[in-house]
Amino acid sequence: MDNRLFRDAMGKFATGVTVILTELDGEQHGMTANAFMSVSLDPKLVVISIKEDARMLQKIEESNQFSVNILSAEQEDISKTFAGQIKDQQVYFDRLAGMPVIPDSLAQVACEVSSTYVEGDHTLFIGKVKDIAVKDGNPLLFYSGKYSHLKEFADV
Ligand code: FAD
Repeated sequence: MDNRLFRDAMGKFATGVTVILTELDGEQHGMTANAFMSVSLDPKLVVISIKEDARMLQKIEESNQFSVNILSAEQEDISKTFAGQIKDQQVYFDRLAGMPVIPDSLAQVACEVSSTYVEGDHTLFIGKVKDIAVKDGNPLLFYSGKYSHLKEFADV
C-alpha cells in the first residue's frame, strides 16, 4: 500500500496537539505530538507514540518520565517550535510533579513510564499519571496536515 494513502487516511482523524516534554541531566527536551490518548481510568494511564528517529525516544528511555501538554488555540507557535518548524526559540517551562510543563497549556499531565512497546517504526510509551493541571480555553487542532480551530471558536 502507498505511504501517501495511509498518511492521507490517518490525517482525516482530527486531533488536538500536544507537546511532550522530558528532562535529562537538568536539560529539557520537547517534541510536538498528536499520537496521544487516554488508556485507563483505574489506574490512570495514557499512551504516546514516538518515531524511531526522534531524539525524544532515547531521552524518555533514559529519564523514564515525560509530561504531555495539550495546547491551546493560541499556542500554534509552541507547536511549530517543538516540531522544528520555528528555530531557536527560547521557551520557559513551569513544573508539575517535578516535570517541566508548558505554561498556559489546556492540560498538563505528568507521567512516569509504566511500560514500553516497540511497534514497527514507533515506540509506544504507557505513562502512569502522577499529577494533572487543567485550565479553560480553546484547543489547537490538527487535521489533514494543517492546524485548525473549532468553527465555533473561529474568531481566536
Ligand atoms: P528535535 O527535532 O531535536 O526537537 C524538536 C524541536 O524542538 C527542535 O527544533 C528543537 O530545537 C526544539 N526543542 C527541543 N527542546 C527544546 C527546548 N528545551 N527549548 C526550545 N526548543 C526546544 N512525531 C512523533 O514521533 N509522534 C507524534 O505523535 C508526532 N505528532 C506530530 C504532530 C504534529 C502536529 C506535528 C507538526 C509533528 C508531529 N510529530 C510527531 C513530528 C515531531 O514533532 C518532529 O519530527 C520532531 O522534530 C521530532 O523531535 P525530536 O525529538 O527528534 O527532536
